[in-house]
Amino acid sequence: MISILNNLPSGSVIEADICIIGAGAAGISQALALSGRGLKILLLESGFEFADDKTQHLYAGEVADEKLHSPPDKYRQRRFGGSTTIWGGRCMPFDPIDFEQRDYVPHSGWPLKYQDLAPYYQKANQLLEAGMYEYDADKVFDADAHAAIKGFKSDIVKTNNLERFSCPTNVGDRYKQRLLVAKDIDILLGANCTGIRLNQTGNHVDHLDIASLQGVKAMVRAKKIILATGGIETTRLLLNSNDVCKNGIGNEHDLVGRYYQCHIAGNLGKLTVKGPTNVVRHGYEISPEGIYCRRRFALTAETQKKIKAGNMVARLHFPKIVDPSHKIGVLSGLFLAKNFISYEYGKRLKDGNSSLGIYLKHFANIILDPIDTIKFLYHWITKRTLAKRKFPSVILNNKSNQFTFEIHGEQYPNPDSRITLINETDELGMRKVKVDWKYMPEDIESIRRSLKLFVQEINQSGLATFEFDDDKLEEDLTRFGAYGGHHIGTTRMGTNPETSVVDVNCKLHNVDNLYIASASVFPTSSQANPTLTIVAMSLRLADHIAQTLNAGKSSHSII
Ligand SMILES: Cc1cc2nc3c(=O)[nH]c(=O)nc-3n(C[C@H](O)[C@H](O)[C@H](O)COP(=O)(O)OP(=O)(O)OC[C@H]3O[C@@H](n4cnc5c(N)ncnc54)[C@H](O)[C@@H]3O)c2cc1C
Repeated sequence: MISILNNLPSGSVIEADICIIGAGAAGISQALALSGRGLKILLLESGFEFADDKTQHLYAGEVADEKLHSPPDKYRQRRFGGSTTIWGGRCMPFDPIDFEQRDYVPHSGWPLKYQDLAPYYQKANQLLEAGMYEYDADKVFDADAHAAIKGFKSDIVKTNNLERFSCPTNVGDRYKQRLLVAKDIDILLGANCTGIRLNQTGNHVDHLDIASLQGVKAMVRAKKIILATGGIETTRLLLNSNDVCKNGIGNEHDLVGRYYQCHIAGNLGKLTVKGPTNVVRHGYEISPEGIYCRRRFALTAETQKKIKAGNMVARLHFPKIVDPSHKIGVLSGLFLAKNFISYEYGKRLKDGNSSLGIYLKHFANIILDPIDTIKFLYHWITKRTLAKRKFPSVILNNKSNQFTFEIHGEQYPNPDSRITLINETDELGMRKVKVDWKYMPEDIESIRRSLKLFVQEINQSGLATFEFDDDKLEEDLTRFGAYGGHHIGTTRMGTNPETSVVDVNCKLHNVDNLYIASASVFPTSSQANPTLTIVAMSLRLADHIAQTLNAGKSSHSII
């Protein structure tokens, strides 16, 4: 059943076995996985089924430096379905090395291993509609399919690493009917959690305060509470709930909000492949079950350890869009349309010189390249705008065998990169956040070491050449600041309560019924985009919580 808080009388007390706060990727996965086990589940959601400016504005806050991090009301959505209403759908699991304690990555090491998550990754892959759980190109595609560059073989740089694309599945739209028919799930929309209220000893959540923007206030009591409000908002809720613990819940050791990680990303270098254009696989391949997949270049785990570098992947990319010297009509069209593209997808088009001369050159590119531009528009409308499973991104015909690398790298955990509260409050009286995202020299040096091996291996192969501008590396990797939408690390998981906020089961160390389902529990960020892992961790948490309540396995499948 779906209800709206504003239609309930103020002062209502709502009771459930489990209350999940937030109906995004984590919250909806939880609700689906807990359903059918004889429990009463309440799913609280701040937003509605449509975007609403006033609700979205509750996400507003400050950033220390807008060049380094976008404002906090961008790159996340406060509505039913959460940020999956606008996500890109790129899926891949974390690598086994990401869970290890690595002496060259301070504060690394998860209290669980890849194998602990593996069964949940399979289900998460299904839930996000990314096809079969297989990320090795050699196992997905025909044996005669060649590597990213035909004939390229290296024991150090691998190109069989895949990413798979979800539809992209908006979990709100996709699972609404499933949630509606489930008799054990109640969904309450327009219900903003404004406080987590502990008992006097501070070790148990007594109740939650919830409020609508129109002034209805109510209370929720549940045996178990799961915070699934996204990385930044889980942090904000814990810090704001300071009536019993004066530094905020779980913050006895000043950890909540610290270690804030995104990813280090940028387009750089020049890769020139020898031979005809068909020796390169730079775009999307479709797997046997119809999923768009893409190959990435990556260092083996052994090599990462040897050169003491964090995890990183690189995709073949086209030239810088803003520079009209590429003479490609489609890219120039994107540049000219940049103001009509949403903030999140247009941000990387707003770089550098935008003088009249530059605009004229972009216009000229379109006029001189009409056939490819029209072909692209037709492809985009049929395969993206109108398609259910959308073509993931702009890919151009390879005419020159010249590429840049698009880097997506792990960010080292840094206690000084952090989210704090400011005194200004939102419409519901909650203090807003300030995001002070910081990268360290190690982040850049790690990628530099990895890229040097790319240069060595690619040039040695004799099949291609690769070079990058060593002096400009930091600029190239930080030009657009933190990679948006990946909010990681601020309520980190660990075994020691003095150095972590939640335990291996995502439960706050010192509170017996409060759990977190979010990338904020990840101690490290991997090379991987986070959502598949968020969902896998949520499914694992659902099993754990059901066990603690002596509820059995679900009587129906998740999807
Ligand atoms: C433009 C963009 C592209 C992206 N592309 C990718 C990608 O390709 N691959 C990938 O892995 N990830 C991607 N992401 C990230 C992905 O969207 C997030 O990782 C994922 O949605 C996080 O899931 P979540 O459930 O933790 O948070 P969310 O999905 O953000 O859900 C949080 C929910 O909590 C609700 N909420 C918040 N505060 C409260 C409150 N106080 N009370 C009640 N409810 C509350 C919100 O309304 C929301 O519904 C992208 C993000 C963006 C913005």
